Amino acid sequence: MLIVKHIKDLQKRLQSDNFTIGFVPTMGALHQGHISLIMQSKAENQLTVCSIFVNPTQFNDKKDFDKYPITIEKDIEKLSLAGTDILFLPELEEMYPEGLDEQKQYDIGYLDTVLDGKFRPGHFNGVSMIVHKLLNAVKPTNLYMGEKDFQQCLVVKHLIEQKKLPVHLITCPTLRESNGLAMSSRNTRLSDQGRVKASTIFDCLTYIKTHQTESEFAELQAYCLAKLTHAGFEPEYLLLADADNLHLIDSFEHANNKVVLVAAKLEGVRLIDNMRM
Ligand code: AMP
Repeated sequence: MLIVKHIKDLQKRLQSDNFTIGFVPTMGALHQGHISLIMQSKAENQLTVCSIFVNPTQFNDKKDFDKYPITIEKDIEKLSLAGTDILFLPELEEMYPEGLDEQKQYDIGYLDTVLDGKFRPGHFNGVSMIVHKLLNAVKPTNLYMGEKDFQQCLVVKHLIEQKKLPVHLITCPTLRESNGLAMSSRNTRLSDQGRVKASTIFDCLTYIKTHQTESEFAELQAYCLAKLTHAGFEPEYLLLADADNLHLIDSFEHANNKVVLVAAKLEGVRLIDNMRM
């Protein structure tokens, strides 16, 4: 696996090959969920590029940024074992040569006003900024992102359409621990007991899915919010939305494609998850 730190070196390496390129952007602290994206990219492209960059502009909470897990040596080992061709590992100055003070503003529209857009002001602007920069650097054929970050996938789809970027977005299923907890780099910040309790999120999503034909969403929502609180979570939202555009709905009959999305803090760690209904 080639490790590249500078955009010009990356482009030199990529320009010389007329290959299909699959790209998996990450913030490191890699787990099997990330590796599943790498495997899908490898199956569908001639060259797979992964990036690791903990992007400061998408953290609205400085403490969350400071505590973000960094395990670079292990990450390199995992990526290399998975057969990644190139790891792009830029420093801050490479991605933000102009510094962090003047940040470009993206028109994210409705998606910036609900769910994580509402609870994490500025987050999706930071995501749009870094994904745009990374796509310009790598110029991939296919971009692989996880459905675990459901709203992020829609924001990036919007970015690609708006900026007319020549890339296909491929969204991949969420990988879970054996108790149902969605794999996440932030899970490493939970205690052993916390990791067990955190599966309550998956239990709630599953409960809503199995009871959707016989109960109103509001009833299921109230039951699950109480269950989360009882397990020690501080829930931020648990909402039903149209999966195509994330317009919030209050009945399972109000859209063909539906998704329930949840964000809740446990032991000070913010966890998100979702499930299609
Ligand atoms: P992150 O490093 O958290 O920014 O994630 C990098 C990419 O991996 C994003 O596209 C995520 O949606 C995806 N991802 C994170 N967790 C999972 C998971 N449990 N299953 C599948 N993909 C994931």
